[in-house]
Amino acid sequence: MVVGAGVAGLAAATALARAGWRVEVVEVNPARETTGWGLSLTGPALRALAELDLADACLAEGHGMSVITHVDVRGEPTDRVELPRLLGARRPAMVGIARPALHRVLYAAAERSGALVRHGLTVAALEQGTASVRVRLSDATERQATLVVGADGLRSSVRGLLGLRSSPGYHGQMVWRALVPRPSWATGIHQFAGTVDTAGLVPLSASQAYVFLTENGVAHDVLPEAELARRLARLLEPFPGRVRELVPLVAACRAVVRRPVRTHVLRGAWSRGSGVVIGDAAHAPAPQMASGAALAIEDGLVLARELDRHESVGAGLAAFTSRRAQRCRTLVETSMAIADLERAQRHDEAYPLVKACHRLMAEPA
Ligand SMILES: Cc1cc2nc3c(=O)[nH]c(=O)nc-3n(C[C@H](O)[C@H](O)[C@H](O)COP(=O)(O)OP(=O)(O)OC[C@H]3O[C@@H](n4cnc5c(N)ncnc54)[C@H](O)[C@@H]3O)c2cc1C
Repeated sequence: MVVGAGVAGLAAATALARAGWRVEVVEVNPARETTGWGLSLTGPALRALAELDLADACLAEGHGMSVITHVDVRGEPTDRVELPRLLGARRPAMVGIARPALHRVLYAAAERSGALVRHGLTVAALEQGTASVRVRLSDATERQATLVVGADGLRSSVRGLLGLRSSPGYHGQMVWRALVPRPSWATGIHQFAGTVDTAGLVPLSASQAYVFLTENGVAHDVLPEAELARRLARLLEPFPGRVRELVPLVAACRAVVRRPVRTHVLRGAWSRGSGVVIGDAAHAPAPQMASGAALAIEDGLVLARELDRHESVGAGLAAFTSRRAQRCRTLVETSMAIADLERAQRHDEAYPLVKACHRLMAEPA
């Protein structure tokens, strides 16, 4: 039983079903479609997707790229980071992809592998037995499951039902995203240092890109949706150089999202009895390393692999946590350190940390 049909849940469902498990996924969202603008899938994400035979589908749906250009507060390019090409020299290092497109690819793979995905359902209660867990769903039906995988995101209910404690913290940053037509110069990621905030542009396809902005030192509040495009355009106005071109595109954008940056990582075990949490439910980095989805996909693969290698579910889950904990903690803590440096306008110290962390993440999962 996998709870949550997001990146982690669909990747885990595919990997487990291919390893011979009978998999049912329950997703609280009644609709199959997902919203959200775009995301960057870094080398480790592409490498994990390649193991599920899905990297080429994502590259076909998105925009492949290999370079991040850092631009300073005067609008001058200062640094060019060539990202490691983990799928070989002929494939790009990373891909920018619209979230609904990634979701479609993952969803189709989960269903092809035989997983059953049911919508509008959640878990109401878990009762651990000796070698299985009784799951009561929100429609009052019950299942006796050998394993429950909580892939239900940052505010995971499964984490609480398993008695695993973590409280994702807010660090004074809000992230903005707006979908805009892709300017012809946007062939890779551009990141623009500002005097207060940080902005950037990520290509998603031949015709689309998303603008992002990290707003520093703000309270965790909710703004009226109708005001978002205008507010984001205003935050971009002080940036020099190419960001000026983006301001009218953002002002004309009909849909803009603004989300708080919340991070956490579980200390100690990620499992209890026959239940385990993966993806954002176990660890959520700040978006500065663009690696939350990479960790989520890797979790699904490693979980299936470790369960396959061990005689009992308990031993497989213990091996899974021990293989994932250090890598995920390092990524979360480094992403938070980068966010802090960004907030303090110490971009020159943040860039080497970004490079070092990408090198570390290039190591096998
Ligand atoms: C603004 C923003 C930008 C980001 N940009 C990037 C990026 O560029 N690159 C990158 O790699 N990462 C990025 N991330 C992080 C990335 O989105 C997450 O790390 C990733 O989506 C985690 O996947 P997940 O499946 O664990 O969680 P989610 O994607 O949150 O999926 C959880 C799923 O569980 C469902 N669910 C929730 N509660 C329940 C319940 N009780 N019962 C059943 N179902 C439930 C939800 O509806 C959802 O479908 C970004 C995050 C944010 C907020």
